Amino acid sequence: MINHETIDNIIQTARIEEVIGDFVTLRRRGVNQIGLCPFHNEKTPSFTVSPAKGIYKCFGCGKAGNSVNFIMEHEHFSYPEALKYLARKYNIEVEEEEQTPEQLQELNEKESLYNLNLFAQLYFSKMLVESEEGKAIGLTYFKERGMRDDIVNKFQLGFSPEKWDAFSIYAIQQGYKKEFLMKTGLSIEKEARLYDRFHSRVMFPIHSASGRVIGFGGRILGNDKSHAKYVNSPESEIYNKSKTLYGIYFAKNAIISKDNCLLVEGYTDVISMHQAGIENVVASSGTSLTHDQIRMIQRYTANISILYDGDPAGIKASFRGIDMIVEQGMNVKIVLFPDGEDPDSYARKHHPNEVESFIATNAVNFILFKTRLLLGETQNDPIKKAALIKEIVNTIALIPDGISRSLYVKECSTLMTIPEQVLMTELNKILRAKLKKSAPELDREAEVIQPEQFVTEPQLDIDPDSAEYQEKEIIRMLLLFGHEVIRIKLNSIDEEEVPVGVADYVVHDIMHDDMEFENPLYKLIFDEYARGVENDAIPDRARFISHDNPEISTLAVDLVFSPYELSVNWLKNNILVTTEESRLHMHVMLAIHAFKARKLDKMMTGIRKKISQTSSPEEQDALMKVFHDLKKQSIQINKDGLGRIITR
Ligand code: ATP
Ligand code: MN
Repeated sequence: MINHETIDNIIQTARIEEVIGDFVTLRRRGVNQIGLCPFHNEKTPSFTVSPAKGIYKCFGCGKAGNSVNFIMEHEHFSYPEALKYLARKYNIEVEEEEQTPEQLQELNEKESLYNLNLFAQLYFSKMLVESEEGKAIGLTYFKERGMRDDIVNKFQLGFSPEKWDAFSIYAIQQGYKKEFLMKTGLSIEKEARLYDRFHSRVMFPIHSASGRVIGFGGRILGNDKSHAKYVNSPESEIYNKSKTLYGIYFAKNAIISKDNCLLVEGYTDVISMHQAGIENVVASSGTSLTHDQIRMIQRYTANISILYDGDPAGIKASFRGIDMIVEQGMNVKIVLFPDGEDPDSYARKHHPNEVESFIATNAVNFILFKTRLLLGETQNDPIKKAALIKEIVNTIALIPDGISRSLYVKECSTLMTIPEQVLMTELNKILRAKLKKSAPELDREAEVIQPEQFVTEPQLDIDPDSAEYQEKEIIRMLLLFGHEVIRIKLNSIDEEEVPVGVADYVVHDIMHDDMEFENPLYKLIFDEYARGVENDAIPDRARFISHDNPEISTLAVDLVFSPYELSVNWLKNNILVTTEESRLHMHVMLAIHAFKARKLDKMMTGIRKKISQTSSPEEQDALMKVFHDLKKQSIQINKDGLGRIITR
């Protein structure tokens, strides 16, 4: 077991921001650093790291601890495994006290699987460069593919000999248990004999994000058609295909520094790209990305470029999968390689600079790519074009961020030569249907009020640089009326109204526009409501009043017990609005609009500052475009007279 001096040394040396920084992109905020929590799904960061205190805490899911806890939680390591991981990271020699045979046996199962995989990797690598067979067949194959030695070493490539049970026999001789040979899938049992899963193959070890070998891919040599070209490890306790990306360990830092992740098909693509000096690249191994894989990438960047070989049919087949990536809030680009080329073959035939510039110049935003590709097939057939509009708008509706949505509507309307309003109407239909789906049981008659018909009074005096007041109003709405129901119209053309829970409406509306709460307490409460809405279990205000965080309970008590009546002095078409529900509806709208107006103001100030700081005309153009859009939204909101709110 690890002795106490060593443990102290490890804990003192490990810097929490560096340890966590290997897995989460952190940004400085005051004395702390914040990022997207790796333990739950979130779009706005609530995961906070305090370098001074050596601890982390997620204000969304409540996970907290120090460096060791983080590694245990994140990598599913035991306490000693986590310590050893940190010791490796900081080159600290681990002094272990003698282990008894019983203690050895106690080494948990996962650690045994990792150990065996490491042993296998070392064996395959040794076979590749030391055995006659490996050199003559395996190494020659890699050389013929143009792979350099440093790349073969970096990716720990190997060779498994032709003999059917060479590895299994050697592993058993070296004291590895049959149980684990079976569980890692390295061996297969047939008629009481062990066979190697991989033989006569070159070997590609698959690494976890922290660099441990969790499985293998083996490629047959040459073009023998009687066996599968690639054989892969089966899933095990340490290898879950849908949570693994080939190359992530080697790509992590480059993904963060380039703020982009390139996605390719398989092992050879990843390796050839590295050899060309392009390191922000991972492979999903043939299938489209899973939810977990997207989340994994999202820890490092919001941008992903998918590299395809030039086969439009294949790309069309993957549109659905890409929609899911869009839905998770990622910006997706498509890079199409020339016919007959994949990233691997292209990288081998071209100079690294050419590869890099090919990718840069050919990356097309997914939605525009999809629009163009499908548009090419409609050939002005009106029925096909109508289907195309639906298809494209469906994808746009998936984008969580409202500002991006409206930008795409604009771009696609130009591309398709269809008025923006047509796309907008379609988009709103879909968004409304989604809202409806989130509250189908609610169906009550009530008076309709258009926001622009409100009569408003002057604003109270508050600090113009703070959104504190507007944030508080939103939280107050949620606490007081979260369970109530209002009826809304989603656009000015449709007559249909949808009954929606107040919490549902507020949460969706604010999340869709991706607007963040600054006050951490308000944010925490909002996030709890957001989770509640997602899980169909809207929290009771009692939960906050008796919250175990005393700051929250105090705040909730204050908000709930301060006098707040739904004003009676409102007019709609000069008629006094009297029903309780219509007044509630109005207050909710006002609170949301005031919140958005304030946030838009702040965003515009930020963009203005950025414009003045950049000297690149392209960047200025892009920023101007965003600014212009924000400005338009802001004008609209102010014109509606909703930038103000009354609390009397
Ligand atoms: P070739 O030399 O014939 O081009 P390859 O080894 O480059 O063969 P491809 O058939 O071109 O393989 O496949 C491209 C990528 O897809 C490879 O990098 C490989 O990693 C991956 N791949 C193909 N089949 C599988 C499979 N069954 N399992 C995992 N990955 C696969
Ligand atoms: Mn290939």
